[in-house]
Order: sequence, then C-alpha cells, then structure tokens
Amino acid sequence: MEHLLELRNIETCFKTDGQLVKAVDNVTMYLDPGEIIGIVGESGSGKSVTMMSMLQLIGSPGKVTGGEVYIRGNEKNMLEYGPNSEEMRHMRGGKISMIFQEPMTSLNPVLTIGYQIQENIMEHLKVDREEAKKRAIEMLKLVNIPDPQERFDYYPQQFSGGMRQRIMIAMAMSSEPEILVADEATTALDVTTQAQLLEMIRDIAKKTNTSVIIVTHNLGIVARFAERIYVMYSGSVVEMTDTKRLFADPEHPYTRALLRAIPRLDDPKDRILIPIEGLPPNPASRPEFCPFYERCEYRMNRCRECSKPALQEIVKGHFAACHLSEEEKKIKAEEIAAKK
Ligand code: SF4
Ligand code: MG
Repeated sequence: MEHLLELRNIETCFKTDGQLVKAVDNVTMYLDPGEIIGIVGESGSGKSVTMMSMLQLIGSPGKVTGGEVYIRGNEKNMLEYGPNSEEMRHMRGGKISMIFQEPMTSLNPVLTIGYQIQENIMEHLKVDREEAKKRAIEMLKLVNIPDPQERFDYYPQQFSGGMRQRIMIAMAMSSEPEILVADEATTALDVTTQAQLLEMIRDIAKKTNTSVIIVTHNLGIVARFAERIYVMYSGSVVEMTDTKRLFADPEHPYTRALLRAIPRLDDPKDRILIPIEGLPPNPASRPEFCPFYERCEYRMNRCRECSKPALQEIVKGHFAACHLSEEEKKIKAEEIAAKK
C-alpha cells in the first residue's frame, strides 16, 4: 500500500423510525505520510460520521454497513477488529488520535490534566510512570502551557477554553500517533485563536511527521491549512483535488457555489457572500439521481434521469461527481454569469 491510510467504500447507516438512513454513502479517501488534508462540507454532510466510522466510534442506532479501512504496516482491514478489541484500542489514540470540538467531553473533569496525559502515554508508548510524566510535561510545553511543571496537577476546569483545546492537542499528540484527526476542533473559538491553534497543530505535525485530517465546515480554514481537500455533500465525496487547484478551478457545481459564498482569498476585500439557496435532501428520502440537483444552478433535465454521478477523474488528481461535460459546464457558467 502506497498510502498511509485508505478508506474504501465506507457506508454507514442509521436506523430511525424503522427506516435505514445512509449517512455515509460509499466514501473513499486516502492520506499520505506527512500530509495535511481537509474534509469540508455543510453540517450533516457525513464528514464526522466518516471519521467516526473509521475509528469504529459509531454507536447504536448507527452502524458501519460496508467498506474497508487500511493503515500502512497493518495488513488487515481495521473494520474487522471489534470496536472494543485490543487492536482497535491500539489504533485509536495509538495510531490515530482525534481532537473534538468540545474538549470537556474528552477531558475527565475529576482527574488532573497531567495524570490524563501521563496515562495516555503509558498506555500507548509502554513507558514507566516517571518517563511518561517527563513526556507529558514536554508536551504541555510544546503547546505553550505556561508553568507546565506546576499545571501538570491542575484540573481541566482550571483552564480557559483556548488552553483546554491546547491541552487536547498535547494529549492527542502525546501518544505519537501517525495520524491526527481534528474534527471542528477549533469551531467554538474566535477566529484568531482558531488560526493559532491550527498553526500549532500544523507545526507540531510537521515536526513529528504526523499526517493530519482537518474536518470543518469552514472553507477558509481548509484553504489555509490543508494541502488537499475532499468536499462532501449529502453523505458522499463530490470533489477532491489539491487545495490550490480546488480554489483556482473548482469543478463541481456545489464547490463553485460554496466558493462564491466565502470571501475571496486572493482579495479579502472582495467579499462575495452569496449563500447557497435550499437545503440538502433529507437522507431518509434522498433521490436516486444527483443529490445536489434541487440546489444546482447547472442542472439539466438529464441530471434527473441519470443515476447519481460517480466521482470521475477530470484531469490528473482532480476528481468530481457531476454528469456535465467540461463544455456543458462552461456554457452553463456563462449563462449564470450573464443572469447576474
Ligand atoms: Fe448539478 Fe447535474 Fe452536476 Fe448534479 S449532475 S451537480 S445536478 S449539473
Ligand atoms: Mg461534524
């Protein structure tokens, strides 16, 4: 396997009111060593569920109903390990660490932060308590916690929100994972703090050769920090390419609409904030055809008659899921521009 991580055809369903709803529909992704990728999409597009599926963190009434996950150096499909198996616990936290939006849900309020980081290190790196403490303090220093020796014995609630997030980063990185998943890890914080934290994650990751997956609904964040981007819509990947290309030459009508809705990066004064009208389809009654159809400015009659478009490579390394040809898209784009 050439990639560090591969997700193949992941499918995850939830049972609601006796109905089986596909939250993740045939998602395939990869991550290379040392790479920082972004998964972007509106809330409910399946980004987090894809990550949780990979780590077997989907609880009832949800279930991973298909697909495979491979990590380099491990022959076996990770999804074949039981969610509570020794192997899976080693993957979670050991090989793949995850930082969530709300640190208080992952930090135990009745244990000191030092103890929690120390335990994590002991479990995954098999070192003794003393060595683990030394490493924990180093980690706290690395994320700029002042007086780490002393604060080792503090409880989570004795820190500010931003500091708790940094402690989460220290905790996640303390087991020396190969992959760090940051799921909306900074969304609750103000813009400046968000940028600082992501810079910190990037710097530590580059230093330790850790690969990072940034999960966010914020295109500005992926523009700035990710090297390659997956755009998700209604449970599927609709576009994937490197960041520069995605912003310079988006292919999927959804990505094009999204990019119109954020301030332009090349000229931040040029703020074109046009929200995309409409809502994604209800996953319980998703159409057989393209799920973006109802909101798509490019749609043609045949989009409704064909089945859901599959991801196709348009030029090398650039994939999009849309039935229209380049020529048709160009004509449509001109029509749309003329209308405005
Ligand atoms: Fe729009 Fe049709 Fe492309 Fe779907 S397949 S994104 S409806 S143009
Ligand atoms: Mg989410």
